[in-house]
Amino acid sequence: MRLSRYFLPVLKETPSEAQIVSHRLMLRAGMIKQAGAGIYSWLPMGFKVLRKLENIVHEEQVRAGHIPMLMPTLQSADLWTESGRYDAYGPEMLRIKDRQGRDLLYGPTNEEMVTDIFRSHVGSYKDLPLTLYHIQWKFRDEIRPRFGVMRGREFYMKDGYNFDLTREDALHSYNRHLVSYLRTYERMGLQAIPMRADSGPIGGDDTHEFLVLAETGESEVFYDSEITDLKFGDREVDYDSHEACRAVLEEFTSRYARTDETHDEALFNAIPEERRRTARGIEVGQIFYFGTKYSDAMGANVQGPDGRSVPVHMGSHGIGVSRLVGAIIEASHDDKGIIWPEGVTPFHAGIVNLKQGDAEADAACDALYQGMVALGLDPLYDDRDERAGGKFATMDLIGLPWRITVGPRGLKNGVVELTSRRTGESEEMPPEAALERLA
Ligand code: ATP
Ligand code: MG
Ligand code: MG
Ligand code: MG
Repeated sequence: MRLSRYFLPVLKETPSEAQIVSHRLMLRAGMIKQAGAGIYSWLPMGFKVLRKLENIVHEEQVRAGHIPMLMPTLQSADLWTESGRYDAYGPEMLRIKDRQGRDLLYGPTNEEMVTDIFRSHVGSYKDLPLTLYHIQWKFRDEIRPRFGVMRGREFYMKDGYNFDLTREDALHSYNRHLVSYLRTYERMGLQAIPMRADSGPIGGDDTHEFLVLAETGESEVFYDSEITDLKFGDREVDYDSHEACRAVLEEFTSRYARTDETHDEALFNAIPEERRRTARGIEVGQIFYFGTKYSDAMGANVQGPDGRSVPVHMGSHGIGVSRLVGAIIEASHDDKGIIWPEGVTPFHAGIVNLKQGDAEADAACDALYQGMVALGLDPLYDDRDERAGGKFATMDLIGLPWRITVGPRGLKNGVVELTSRRTGESEEMPPEAALERLA
């Protein structure tokens, strides 16, 4: 993309309404524009990052054997009356009446709707196990929408639902989700720590939240510092193997890590003092096993191997896709701007032309641009007729991992400059060598 033809409305001033760094940087970098309290338009570069995260989530869900689908944002109140949550959910639910006077709601989550789909089409244990998921906009009328996309009212969430014959199978589904979530967050360049949590309005006993440590996090967390040494890395886990998935769960939940909702002072104090940590965290996902709560209420039964009809065991599993954009920035920035991890960056590298209009510099930039495209990379070429300082400031603000600086002086010596956004280190090299580095 050529910057002169793109839509990147960066702000010079720091917006005063933004209290935390990710919100400030998303506004300044022209990623979002507020449309109402807790409601945002995703401008082109913000949308690009959102799509990248969404793709990672899809790839990891499909890898785990989960099946993508799409349910609507608007739901009928009837299903929620069946489960008993139409009254129980409270004022966070946005309730709507259509012109016929029918009660609708903008879905805050989808347990009821997916359970209805299941009971309409599945009747036998032979069709299990089954995990369906979608990535769809949700609405929760949060009492205090704030921090930009971190606590929106409209937000983008992946929510998945497993259907299993037995509790044991459903716990395997739970463990499998934990494994796939660890992989997902690491691909986004994040460490998200599974912590024992409280189940809230979803219900159930077994639940873990995934938290990214950050000063601006809304949750208070308590953990054993050893947990932050655990890395999922590039291990291959057989998602069908109960033992393999359970082993990962045991490893990643073997150290004390809890949110304030479940914190146990006595257990915490049993950890050697130098390893006890109290910090803030951002909730970027949560997994639940809730057994037959919805299948009992809504009659989602299957015929078991012995011919008897039994309610299915279920769980639900959410990832806050739009919140993650903010969480990644909270975890990865400096005083100049965002520093995108390679896996989620909106463009792979920026090209800065120090002397737009200089025939040789323009030609070298064009060649680099074509070279990157040929390598399957997505460059952003700052071809505006602007001062170098302004171009550098924009590149630092939008945080692409690499910058290639091209100018007449370097070209005389046959070199361009390759700069890492994260380390700030620059190296001169021939254009072909820079391309090779990025490949
Ligand atoms: P929170 O405690 O932050 O209110 P939650 O526990 O109510 O979140 P879940 O029902 O567990 O949320 O939804 C799954 C994920 O969706 C959360 O882990 C979070 O990442 C994301 N999420 C929830 N509410 C919001 C929101 N208002 N804005 C953006 N993302 C959200
Ligand atoms: Mg909430
Ligand atoms: Mg929560
Ligand atoms: Mg939650």
